[in-house]
Amino acid sequence: MVIKKESSVDDVLKSSDECKKCGKCCEKGFGFVLNHEISKMAKFMGQNETNFIRKFLEPVEVFHTSKHRTKRRKSNKDKPYGRCVFHDSKTGECKIHDAKPLYCKLGTCQTHGESLIQWYYLNFFVNPKDPSSVREWKIYADMKEVIPGGKPQDLVGMENLLKILNYSELTMAPPKPKLKKKQ
Ligand code: SF4
Ligand code: SF4
Repeated sequence: MVIKKESSVDDVLKSSDECKKCGKCCEKGFGFVLNHEISKMAKFMGQNETNFIRKFLEPVEVFHTSKHRTKRRKSNKDKPYGRCVFHDSKTGECKIHDAKPLYCKLGTCQTHGESLIQWYYLNFFVNPKDPSSVREWKIYADMKEVIPGGKPQDLVGMENLLKILNYSELTMAPPKPKLKKKQ
């Protein structure tokens, strides 16, 4: 399956069958959490949203966009990683499996892992209306083979991209999609 920026959540989740639920990534990682996912997670943990965020989540900024991720329990404070706060060290399972966020369902260590991460970034973090976000994505995209529809020029058009990279555009709307010519 080719994962594109425009792929639907349903299509992308079909790749999550590849996740073996071994819990390895949760031992040294976290899950990104979208705003609309917080209420379900909080309810599952029997918390109100404010308490849930304070206890289990921390803010994160990626491609100039702010969201949350699950906290990590760092056994060694000098290391940048730690076990996800929801990872059960005894069973190796996710304690909130039935309410875990989309990011954690993607199976990002598997065959399509890099593409799945890019799909997630492009749909939830990269903001074509924010030149700073586009500039940060351009740096990332220059180092990778980007999924179809995800190149910076695909997001804002080449003309706008050059203005963004020259810092001559500080705010802008994404270009209107081109209408297909009638056959
Ligand atoms: S929320 Fe669950 S699946 Fe996601 S990183 Fe934490 S333990 Fe793993
Ligand atoms: S994404 Fe990979 S490492 Fe993480 S639980 Fe699934 S199979 Fe294991």
